[in-house]
Amino acid sequence: NQQFLLDNRPAGEAVASNFRLVSSETPPLQDGQVLVRHHYLSLDPYMRGRMNDSKSYTAPQPLGQVMLGGTVGEVVESRSPKFQPGDKVVSVGGWQLYGVVNADEPGALRKVDTSHVPLSYYLGAVGMPGVTAWYGLVKLIEPKAGETMVVSAATGAVGSAFAALAKARGCRTVGIAGGPDKCRYAVEELGFDACIDYKLHQDAASLSKALKAACPDGINGYFENVGGMVLDAVLPRMNAFGRIAVCGMIAGYDGKPMPLTYPALILTSRLKVQGFIVTEHLEVWPEALKELAALVATGKLHPRESVAEGLEAAPEAFLGLLKGKNFGKQLVKLI
Ligand code: NDP
Repeated sequence: NQQFLLDNRPAGEAVASNFRLVSSETPPLQDGQVLVRHHYLSLDPYMRGRMNDSKSYTAPQPLGQVMLGGTVGEVVESRSPKFQPGDKVVSVGGWQLYGVVNADEPGALRKVDTSHVPLSYYLGAVGMPGVTAWYGLVKLIEPKAGETMVVSAATGAVGSAFAALAKARGCRTVGIAGGPDKCRYAVEELGFDACIDYKLHQDAASLSKALKAACPDGINGYFENVGGMVLDAVLPRMNAFGRIAVCGMIAGYDGKPMPLTYPALILTSRLKVQGFIVTEHLEVWPEALKELAALVATGKLHPRESVAEGLEAAPEAFLGLLKGKNFGKQLVKLI
């Protein structure tokens, strides 16, 4: 087996030498265990937070252990009656080629159907990021047809699923993304009604003006993935009784200080602002995954993927994700 361990913690920005590649023997299987050959590893922004040794909603990634991460792959050996060699499965296998999973642990290993949904999508649109978009939109923003919805990091794994879900509910859907290619793709391929390139704007006031033009009736729901200047630009455009799902603040993950935003506007516009962690709402996953799979199967959601080749490419691809170099769901192809 080959594995990436977290070797040391970042001081400021994360760097490739925070990770260490090692080889090891896969231990023999115990009763109830399954050996999975990983085909794809998911790289996700939350991994950056876990590299720090600071207080958060989960414990930090321990040093010297395999980096945590979602994986999809195939069962190659099984000592569990629930899984057979050849089964396609989703697990949290980590940054490694093979994973040993205790099949009886609830949620540890899930069989998936790849007849209508490609295996890799179970790490993106029909997986954790898709459910994240679903939870924030459906349960927190509670959109009504005709309302205006805005999402930042619009072409990413979460943002692209958000667009399909908001359009399916009859909303005007506006994205914020970095660069002309991503914005064109957002409108032409993902179905956004408009997309604003935040990189064209030096400050929040200028970005806010562009938002006003793209959202002539104001904003009823905002799905926050970025924070910083983008949130500062959106808040003044929120309508009274608007709802904000605070999903992520990636602008502040890699050691940069995050500018304080306008809490006064939350008061004066009587906004409902709610943070959430998708893995704490397992009850919605079946319903959300069903809708997302149907959107994929009917061609209404065809997310883009950025695929890095080989396990050795994982650190650079991950550091790129934190700088917006990915274009769509970031994966590492392991086989
Ligand atoms: P994406 O696929 O959207 O990739 C990250 C994107 O963020 C980049 O492509 C880039 O897009 C943007 N970005 C990166 N750095 C910056 C920066 N400094 N300033 C502004 N934008 C930046 O990732 P995901 O869809 O997987 O995740 C999106 C967000 O959702 C993240 O904040 C993540 O932490 C959060 N999340 C939260 C969950 C929860 O349970 N609360 C669960 C899953 C995800 P661009 O080039 O357009 O700027």
